[in-house]
Amino acid sequence: MWEKREASKKRIIDAAKRAYACGAFSVCFHAGFYQGRTPAEIYEIIKAELKDIVERLQQQSIDIWIRPETTGKATQFGTLEEIITLSNELEQIMPCIDFSHMHARSAGKLNSYEEFYNVLEILEKELGKKALKEMHVHVSGIEYSAKGERYHLNLKDSDFKYKELLKALKEFNCKGVVISESPNIEEDALLMKKCFEEL
Ligand SMILES: [Zn+2]
Repeated sequence: MWEKREASKKRIIDAAKRAYACGAFSVCFHAGFYQGRTPAEIYEIIKAELKDIVERLQQQSIDIWIRPETTGKATQFGTLEEIITLSNELEQIMPCIDFSHMHARSAGKLNSYEEFYNVLEILEKELGKKALKEMHVHVSGIEYSAKGERYHLNLKDSDFKYKELLKALKEFNCKGVVISESPNIEEDALLMKKCFEEL
């Protein structure tokens, strides 16, 4: 267990070092599964390990955001609340907001302008304006069941209302990056870019 955790931490630290050397402003990752433990127990474990990661990066002056991602399944650590709390309690941690995962995790909710607006409002309230000015967002089409994420789809083959999301991002004058995680990668990135420019 310890070895597996250490190997995961090393991968995050190595990725952060490389990304920082390339001039990136953040790196993101999926933090883990609950694996039969309570969310509160897993939260404390992940918090302690992330604290260690950040301390090791700070010792080497690697100044880059480390971003745990909102995840798509109820078995995975990574609700919006968990990620926000980590960001509040630790230095150098900020959320990676994967809106499609959140949509899948809620089995179809979080798919309207009002709901996207509400998420951005929560981020601003809990983490301050900077959370909306240096955003790291993931979007893709997504197939899901009652248990959450099944697999990623291209936006046009999914029910994800990306235009509503882009409207909300524009309304809050958000800054940062929106990364397409659709199977067609660039195509949906361009689709969103074009749509955003036409708003
Ligand atoms: Zn993602």
